[in-house]
Amino acid sequence: MPRALVSLGGNEGDVRATFRAAMESLRRHPQIDAVRASRIYSTPPVGDVAGGSFLNAAADLTTSLDPLLLLDLLQATEHQLGRVRALHWGPRTLDLDLLAFDDRIIDHPRLTLPHPGCWYRRFVLDPLAEIAGDFVHPEKETTFRCLRERLLVRPLCVRVAGGDDATRSRLVADLVDGFDTIECGPWESVKDSERADGEKRGGSPGLLLWLGPGAGRSEFSELPIVPRVDLTAFPESLDVAARYVLEAALGEPRVESSFDPG
Ligand code: ATP
Ligand code: CA
Ligand code: CA
Repeated sequence: MPRALVSLGGNEGDVRATFRAAMESLRRHPQIDAVRASRIYSTPPVGDVAGGSFLNAAADLTTSLDPLLLLDLLQATEHQLGRVRALHWGPRTLDLDLLAFDDRIIDHPRLTLPHPGCWYRRFVLDPLAEIAGDFVHPEKETTFRCLRERLLVRPLCVRVAGGDDATRSRLVADLVDGFDTIECGPWESVKDSERADGEKRGGSPGLLLWLGPGAGRSEFSELPIVPRVDLTAFPESLDVAARYVLEAALGEPRVESSFDPG
């Protein structure tokens, strides 16, 4: 049966109880089997409107549902457990994201797989590495364990690529100002194909953040995986999106409790 990875997050109400209820409803579903849960982590909030600190966890399951039906189930569970959709990235009782579904790569209006944030967000990767560290991210072609370890280097090397010189410099200055655990600079030698890719996806200059220890190399194409974040894919402005990405990449989750403390 296909294997699916799911993340849980929340920062409103009794989040542990909400997580337990969500996990029970997954376990009860006739087309879902073998649900394994990570421990629960406490993580700093990301962004300006997120509210207080979050609890996060991950689940690893097998299912005979197809990916969109599993997403339906996750969204129905969010609603049953009290989620009101208000601010994007705002406080929430429960956020259930489908991170990966076997090695499927899906670009559907309702479902992007793997989840675009799953490979650079510590609040996703820490719980996930605990239960599914060997799972290979089908686009990055490396395991979630390695993706997490790439983010542990301090200072974290960050390069801003694409766009025009002024935009790049402004963004670098912003990030240098805002984060003291990164080493940040512009990346000048973006190949034409990389730039075109950024433009195609965003409709505006391709701004790429490059996280991790490989960033000192001379060409993107020399990297075993391509650790880039397309900032133009975010609804927020470039500087706000860059800040959110780095907060998520740098924020250290703490283990809070096991899943079933009773
Ligand atoms: P983020 O996706 O950056 O974590 P979010 O979880 O706060 O942000 P939501 O408001 O919960 O975003 O979801 C917005 C939309 O994302 C949903 O309507 C859903 O259809 C879509 N979506 C696309 N891909 C996925 C996925 N892999 N898992 C969950 N939702 C997804
Ligand atoms: Ca989410
Ligand atoms: Ca979501």
